This record gives sequence, structure tokens and C-alpha cells, in this order.
Amino acid sequence: MTDAARMHDVTPETRRIVDLVLDYSRERLLAQDTPLDKPLPAAELSRLAGRTISEEGVGAERALGVFTHVLAPACITTDDPRYLSFIPTAPTKAAAAFDLVVSASALYGGSWLEGAGAVHAENEVLRWLADEFGLPASAGGVFVQGGTLGNLSALVAAREAARAHRADTGAAAPTRWAVVCSSQAHSSIASAARVMDVDVITVPTDADGVLRGDAVAAVLANVHERVFAVVATAGSTNFGIVDDIAGVAAAAHAHDIWLHVDGAYGLAGMLSPLARHLYAGVEQADSVIVDPHKWLFAPFDACALIYRDPEQGRRAHTQHAEYLDTLTDRSDYSPSDYAAHLTRRARGLPLWFSLATHGAAAYREAVSASIVLARRIADEIEARSGFSLVRRPQLGVVVFERDGWTRADYEAWSQRLLDVQHAFVTPSSHEGRPNARFAILNPRTTFDDLTGILDTMH
Ligand SMILES: *Cc1c(COP(=O)(O)O)cnc(C)c1O
Repeated sequence: MTDAARMHDVTPETRRIVDLVLDYSRERLLAQDTPLDKPLPAAELSRLAGRTISEEGVGAERALGVFTHVLAPACITTDDPRYLSFIPTAPTKAAAAFDLVVSASALYGGSWLEGAGAVHAENEVLRWLADEFGLPASAGGVFVQGGTLGNLSALVAAREAARAHRADTGAAAPTRWAVVCSSQAHSSIASAARVMDVDVITVPTDADGVLRGDAVAAVLANVHERVFAVVATAGSTNFGIVDDIAGVAAAAHAHDIWLHVDGAYGLAGMLSPLARHLYAGVEQADSVIVDPHKWLFAPFDACALIYRDPEQGRRAHTQHAEYLDTLTDRSDYSPSDYAAHLTRRARGLPLWFSLATHGAAAYREAVSASIVLARRIADEIEARSGFSLVRRPQLGVVVFERDGWTRADYEAWSQRLLDVQHAFVTPSSHEGRPNARFAILNPRTTFDDLTGILDTMH
């Protein structure tokens, strides 16, 4: 059975494979002219890629050839400066390159026993973020896969804390638990509630899209006994609007209810002196999340989940099993214990490396650039005839209408932009009215990129 290790041993063949893949990666990381690309129908991809999986294998050259010529061109270049849909991604070169190191080193990020060095560095990043957000020295957490899992894990910890509190005080647990959030909260809050089998109570925002404390207080007055968490959004995905976090915190904490701040997209805006004032109150959060794969310029996929008191997270999430006792009987800091996961990639390390390399000031500058550009293009849209701004941007999201356009007009325009490889801008809507939306995050996006896109809307 000597051949069993032929894929693992260092041999002329495995050396060649590693070289091929690293050469490709190097070229992609340093390319100046990566096309935007676009998806193809499944049948078309089947035809072009052919069958790649067989008993004998097709060899690395052929497999990489299929990836290079067929599969990669069918994936949109999400870090393209004219990718302005959803929430884009724009990893720094340092962060993207270091992701290769995380893979190459087979790091295990779940436990201190196995990954102490990696966990130490990740924790330094979490500490830095907690300081930026004004959270106390006790705060800590873990990098999880994405904001959806971060929100779920935080809400599970919140419910656990509420349950424990009821048990300690002899109060009866409600028949249905509920989480309170704004009507603008991200869909992942409703997803978490479905997984947890709890109710979502939505509170209307003011006309400006901001959830305010008095609205939360009015709702809580009737339902607080079954509410285990209130969620404030620090940068809504649709508009980049930040809730009145201080007001929401006061309303929640008046009933001893956990405040979770969902800042998956927008909390990074706190790094910029231009936006910092919008986030007053975040320092009172019981848990927060922010996604490094969004506005912190790390590669997919990473969410920083931070608890004010990490012990609450550990109590809710530690897995117990005979084979794990050797880990869980220790007092070491094991990231697996703080979310709904066990095995984990040390996915905070690309951000750590880039942040250590460039320093926080470079991040402040890059985040500020998006905010400045969003304001500038908002001014331009207001000034152009035939265009109207739906709302002044707070962060990097600019939502606007082309006067008289129907949903079909936006759809056709968006498809054409992608077909001709000009830009990726998907239509959105607000209160039933179709619109277009620029999510500005990539520091390489220019004002001319944006006006060039507006010029196509006739
Ligand atoms: C993107 C986003 C999420 C979900 O994060 P994923 O990483 O996509 O799971 C949650 N909340 C807000 C506000 C977001 O913008």
C-alpha cells in the first residue's frame, strides 16, 4: 500500500502540482486586468467543462485548465471596482495572499491546544475591534463563517442567558420566546429565529429608516417578558442606515434584555472619523458582529462575533463529548466554544496579517474613502436631471431612481451592463418602487467609474 500516500508525499508530481497552483494564485492576485466575468447556464458549463471526475483522475494540468478557461470565467469577479451589487468584497493583497498561508499550514483554529498561535493573533484582532467599538476589557469572541452564523450564535447565547436568569430568579419561562428587531433588519435575523423556533417582533423605523429607542420601548412595554434580545442594525444592508443604538440600548436594558448589534456590513464604518458619531451606544452592546469579508477587506468568509461577556457565549455553545473532554476540561480559550460550530479554519488570520502589516490607519483611510465617494456620487445624482436620490447615504450605500423607469427597465439595463462587462449593478426596490443601488466599498472604485455607469441609464 505504498501508493496510498502518493497524493501526500513530496514527490516530483506533488511539487509540480503545488507550483502550478501557486503560479496561478500569484498571477490572479497581481493581475491588473481580471475581467468582470458572468455566470453561464448549468447545461452550458457541463458542455464546456466536460467530465472532470473519474477513477483515474485527469491530472492537475487538465483540472487547472478547466478551472482557468471554463469555471473561473463563469464566476463574477467580486473584487472588481465596478462590482457594486449586494455588499461587495475587496480583500487587501496582504489578506488575500495570507489566506494561502492559512491553507498551506493546515492550521486548526478550534482549540488553544492545537492552534494557540493562530488563536492568539485572532484574539488580538478581536481585542482591537472591541476597543474600537468601546466594549470593555472583558469582551471577546470568535471569528465564524459569516454574519448569518454570527447573528445566530449571538442570539442563542442571549436566549440561554435569559433562560438562566429566569431559572435563577424562579420566574417562569415564556411559552414562546421572541426577538425584537427593526423592519429593516437583515434577513439573517429571521433565519436565526426560524432555526431557534422563536418569534420575531418587528418594530417600525422612522421615515428615515432608523430604528429609535422610543419605538422599541413602546413595543417592549407589552411584550418584554418573552423577549430575550433586541437587535439594532449598525448599517442596514439596503441603505447603510445605522439605528439609534443608544436609544435602542436604553430601551432593551430598561428590561434587562440583551442588546445585539448587527454590524455585519456597517460596523466597520466606526473606523472612519467621518462616521464614528453615528454609532453612539454600541459600547453598551451585549454582543456585536462585523464581517471582515465586507468592509474590513478580508477574503471570504469571516465574521467577527464579540460578546461583552464571552462566558455567556461559552455557556451556550461549548460542545461536550468524551473525545473532547481533554479540551473542554481546560480553562484555555478555545474558539470552538463560542459559537455554533466545532472544527474551524483560523479565518481571522488574513485580517490579522493585513492589519499588522499596514496598520489601522490604512484601514481608516480606506473606509473613509468609500464614505467620501458615496457622498460625492449622491451629490452628483441629486444634481443630474432625470435622477433622484432615494435617501442621503450615511455610509457607502447609495440608492437612487432613474425617473420613469419600471422594474423591467432596471432589469434590462443591469443585464446589459453585465453582458458588455461594464459593471455589476443589480436592481433593488424600496417600498415597492424599483431603484438602482451602488454599494461602494472597494477603495479602487472611482468617481468616474460611477458616473460612467450613470451615463448608461438613458
Ligand atoms: C451581510 C449581512 C448579514 C449576513 O452576513 P453573511 O456573512 O452574508 O452571512 C447580516 N446582517 C447584515 C446587516 C449584513 O449586511
